[in-house]
Amino acid sequence: MRGVIRNIFDDHLPTVLAEREGHDLSEREWRGVWCIATCRTAAQGTHILACPDGHGPVQEAFNSCHHRGCVQCGWPATQRWIERRQAQILHCAHIHTIWTMPDVFDPLWLYNRSTYTTLFFRACWETVQTLMADPRWCGARPGMLAVFQSWGDYTQRHPHIHAIVTAGGMDKDGHWQAPKHSFVICARVAMALFRGKMRAFILDGLADGSLSCPPNTTQAHWIQEANRQGLRKWNVHVQPPYAETGRVIRYIGAYLKRGPLSERRIEAYDGQTVRIAHKHSEKHNADNYELSGAECVRRLLLHMPEPWLHTSRAYGLYHPAAATMLTQARSQIQPAADASTACDTPPPAERPVSASPLCCPICGRRLYVHLRIHGGQSPPEEFRQQQRERAA
Ligand SMILES: [Zn+2]
Ligand SMILES: [Zn+2]
Repeated sequence: MRGVIRNIFDDHLPTVLAEREGHDLSEREWRGVWCIATCRTAAQGTHILACPDGHGPVQEAFNSCHHRGCVQCGWPATQRWIERRQAQILHCAHIHTIWTMPDVFDPLWLYNRSTYTTLFFRACWETVQTLMADPRWCGARPGMLAVFQSWGDYTQRHPHIHAIVTAGGMDKDGHWQAPKHSFVICARVAMALFRGKMRAFILDGLADGSLSCPPNTTQAHWIQEANRQGLRKWNVHVQPPYAETGRVIRYIGAYLKRGPLSERRIEAYDGQTVRIAHKHSEKHNADNYELSGAECVRRLLLHMPEPWLHTSRAYGLYHPAAATMLTQARSQIQPAADASTACDTPPPAERPVSASPLCCPICGRRLYVHLRIHGGQSPPEEFRQQQRERAA
């Protein structure tokens, strides 16, 4: 349902604003609301498209907002990421790991989104790196691609990280090492190590002030909570290795740029209730659920990403600084003849990225952006005022 999310925001943002102190949103939320309201309209600016061979006339089109919470921009961005990563990824098996923090820490995440998410990524990578470096598991440096996602299956709050890790790595002498066990790393051992690291990061962050306590809570409360959670089991899943690299990249890519809700998943909206189709590709089941319009807006606001926060990160062999080591690894784990094949599976056939509808009507060549006039990424004061007045 094209444009439906814009309509839901239009109808129900006043209700959500009315609940907020001063009828206001955070800058993170305002940017998301503004981008959804103005994506591909004059407010985002325009760009001029021209034929590389100079065939006229030129075409003018509105800019996309490129906001990571925007439902219109998500699909092309996801496809670009998938194409880039498929060209980069090694042709070895990968394991898919899922890391979740106990939900008692959610208020700490909500109040320190950037810092907390960065610590979360660091704890995952340090755990994987430490285990894989251990000669009992692999004795080498792996590659890891990780994506942070703040929502669960039903768009509810559920901060977690999906990471794919190479089943194997490069040792100090530049040789590819296969893992010692078929399951690569043990989930129980990874959980204990990750828990220890994340607890230490939280305690250090509270001590040095890089993590702030949410309102009405004290540092003593969080220290006590960190200690209590040290005795509990945390959710860390390690899936058996996937042999097919294309599939694993598409799977993780699907989590990346699309935001919590795509418009294709909205089956019905009657002005009050939103019916959402939910299909879980890994669990192979489908399910529908309903949210009130206001609850849908609340959840989308909750998952608006922090500006400048990288929600996908590359580590080890996949880090840009390790390009030489990655080339070495590639030459050892796949025959040279195969090296020109970027991926073993083509991207999904339904909507290929390269097929742009914007081609020259005379020669058929793809038009290029001749000039771009930028609009505003952040809402002007009149827009905010207008929304506040609707809420009053
Ligand atoms: Zn957009
Ligand atoms: Zn042309």
